[in-house]
Amino acid sequence: MTWEGHVASHETQPGVCDLFVVGGGINGSGIARDAAGRGLSVVVAEMNDLASGTSSASTKLFHGGLRYLEYFEFRLVREALIERETLLRAMPHISWPMRFVLPYSKDMRFEGQTPTSKLLNVVMPWMRGRRPAWLIRLGLFLYDNLGGRKILAGTRRFDLRNSPEGVPLKDAFSTAFEYSDCWIEDSRLVVLNARDAVERGATLLVRTKVAATVRTDDYWDVTVQDTQSGETRVIRAKMIINAGGPWVGDILHGTARINSSESVRLVRGSHIVTRKLYDHDKCYFFQGTDGRIIFAIPYETDFTLIGTTDVDHKDPTVPPECTPEEQAYLLDFASQYFEKPVTHDDIVWAYSGVRPLYDDGASSATAATRDYTLKVDSDGGAPILTVFGGKITTYRRLAENALDKIAPFFPGLSGAWTAGVALPGGDFAVDGFDDLVAKLSADFPFLSDFQARRLVRAYGTDAWPCLGDAKSIDDLGRDFGASLTEREVVWLIEKEFAQTAEDVVWRRSKLGLRLSAGEIEILNTWMETRRAGILASAAE
Ligand SMILES: Cc1cc2nc3c(=O)[nH]c(=O)nc-3n(C[C@H](O)[C@H](O)[C@H](O)COP(=O)(O)OP(=O)(O)OC[C@H]3O[C@@H](n4cnc5c(N)ncnc54)[C@H](O)[C@@H]3O)c2cc1C
Repeated sequence: MTWEGHVASHETQPGVCDLFVVGGGINGSGIARDAAGRGLSVVVAEMNDLASGTSSASTKLFHGGLRYLEYFEFRLVREALIERETLLRAMPHISWPMRFVLPYSKDMRFEGQTPTSKLLNVVMPWMRGRRPAWLIRLGLFLYDNLGGRKILAGTRRFDLRNSPEGVPLKDAFSTAFEYSDCWIEDSRLVVLNARDAVERGATLLVRTKVAATVRTDDYWDVTVQDTQSGETRVIRAKMIINAGGPWVGDILHGTARINSSESVRLVRGSHIVTRKLYDHDKCYFFQGTDGRIIFAIPYETDFTLIGTTDVDHKDPTVPPECTPEEQAYLLDFASQYFEKPVTHDDIVWAYSGVRPLYDDGASSATAATRDYTLKVDSDGGAPILTVFGGKITTYRRLAENALDKIAPFFPGLSGAWTAGVALPGGDFAVDGFDDLVAKLSADFPFLSDFQARRLVRAYGTDAWPCLGDAKSIDDLGRDFGASLTEREVVWLIEKEFAQTAEDVVWRRSKLGLRLSAGEIEILNTWMETRRAGILASAAE
């Protein structure tokens, strides 16, 4: 069966889509949104759930990447710093400013391979790899000034001994620096980009794997397989966008059979989530004696998120897991700072993801470039663009750059548009979160404060259509626990492509931290039964 029927305003041949995007992570969804908004006809295939790959397993920061300055990655840092505020304005529900506290200790060391440490080893050999305070100040000065900051507060140095930020830390830390970055709900970012792409005309196929491709001079025949039914069909496209994240190399060399020397370096990063370790709302940036850094971040109101690690991960088909060694490393690292040691008993959850980095031949996983590279191959027939690397933070700029690269194949393509356009539910003031919560609570007085805040964080102004005409808590239908109601689940199924309980409790929300295994099972059965009922009535 051939895919047919999607006709966009661009010069589209019937039955042939302009772009076939492989991968529903942040890069695939971001490119699909941008392209659909420019009138291209777009099909996206994601073999699992949206954001089921790396894009739900990040540290969840829109950040410039303070540590990348030591690698002289000025282009990346500048782009990311500028981008933070553009993104914040477009999605004030799922992103918000955060302050990062960097306790200073002279024992902390550089990663030996950074250009900065190599330089200092030559000009200041007596430092023996230590990271001096003046260098941190210089880094923060650049961080403050490289990226045209308007909303986010600047850096400062302060005394930990008489401030709340010093309370949970060991007495050895007396001085700290503080700077701004932003939080981002990573998997919700993906879903909202995908939803916006679909609202702008894209076709999204979840749980659909790209199994094979055939290339001719003018188009690709892409064989996709429904991973639940096993059914296959062929979709014809003028161009493929390979945004397969950790699988990008397999798709390029295996599925598309492109002869290219470009490759991806897979670097696993793991996080642990613990019970809440401290009472203020700032994050910690801890420097280690091994030259690495980790974050400790207030998470989901009642928890603390600690990560990450950097471990080479050879095979994308091996699901990443936070190994006992990585857990021990993170516990030990955090315990060098917190007065009360963080132990295994504190851990409530752990997750792991694989960074699909462009292989620049760096010696260590930590040193491999975090910048992105876009490669177009059009020598052997219809074009394919492959995405290597790419931060969550740079996804929108990456999409614009990808569209620039493919523009020659689509004459007359319109220009960049996504800066300043809100994602679904994000059409409110950048500092308007509390007002929106107050308004939602006034309109739906039966919501608990926890539920109202959670709904505005998740859906922004879309909390209203999500709740609809409900006049009482009973109108929201079945209660699945932790304030998750039937009406919200139906919204997630109908508007956000959720199919299983896991989609709902780990990627559309993080309610998995609060629901028991039994409650999640009940939700799953309810979703399966509903789906079976809909399929049965469609077949009648
Ligand atoms: C531990 C860690 C922490 C990070 N922290 C941050 C951070 O704080 N800030 C930041 O900006 N960035 C961060 N990043 C980087 C960022 O998360 C990734 O660069 C980004 O998520 C990659 O997105 P992607 O779309 O390229 O890949 P993915 O999200 O992996 O998406 C690729 C998708 O392609 C699908 N796919 C693959 N093959 C096929 C096929 N044949 N058919 C159909 N679908 C297919 C997969 O199922 C997958 O969903 C972090 C990364 C890690 C690992």
